[in-house]
Amino acid sequence: MNNKLEIVFATNNPNKLKEIREILGEKYKLLSLQDINCNEEIPEDFETLEENANQKAEYIFKKYNVNVFADDTGLEIDALNGEPGVYSARYAGENKSSEDNMQKVLLKMDGTENRNAKFRTVIALYLEGKKYEFEGEVIGKILEEKHGNEGFGYDPIFMPENYNISFAEMELSEKNKISHRGRAVEKLTKFLKNKTI
Ligand code: IMP
Repeated sequence: MNNKLEIVFATNNPNKLKEIREILGEKYKLLSLQDINCNEEIPEDFETLEENANQKAEYIFKKYNVNVFADDTGLEIDALNGEPGVYSARYAGENKSSEDNMQKVLLKMDGTENRNAKFRTVIALYLEGKKYEFEGEVIGKILEEKHGNEGFGYDPIFMPENYNISFAEMELSEKNKISHRGRAVEKLTKFLKNKTI
């Protein structure tokens, strides 16, 4: 059997830690930023998901010398020219809530027929000093109003392709199977499993 691989997930979002712990299973010891006593703000000042994910992972790798991965996700809406994209977390402004962000999207999309959108996640990994990148996406539609109470972020207004419920109406395990992050993490875990055999 493999030894447990210790790896830091560079996030302060407990929902994401929970999601990824569930996907990774018991073979990995997933550490949080708190576990390595990293309490500072990690820089994230680029205009693309790729650059931001890489910047976060590189920062932790260089400062703490650990195996680490970081993700960056954006909701890309066709009718809004890819907005909110890299600004998804703060679309309605700094210190605004997910509720505010969703309301901004719904308002901007009011009367818009083309509801096509996708979530895209990029994961940057530093493993034994080498850099790798993984991507996952899920295509779907922006609903006219919120549905469901599960999940976080834009989940209540996003309905994935081939479903007639929103992400916020799904069980977490079901969401993980098809989600942007789930798919990116699947690529990451396949890679890690091959690496540690
Ligand atoms: P992050 O880069 O993963 O922190 O994601 C940026 C923003 O995208 C978050 O603050 C959420 O608003 C949104 N987001 C990321 N992942 C999800 C998801 O799985 N469901 C809904 N919204 C998400």
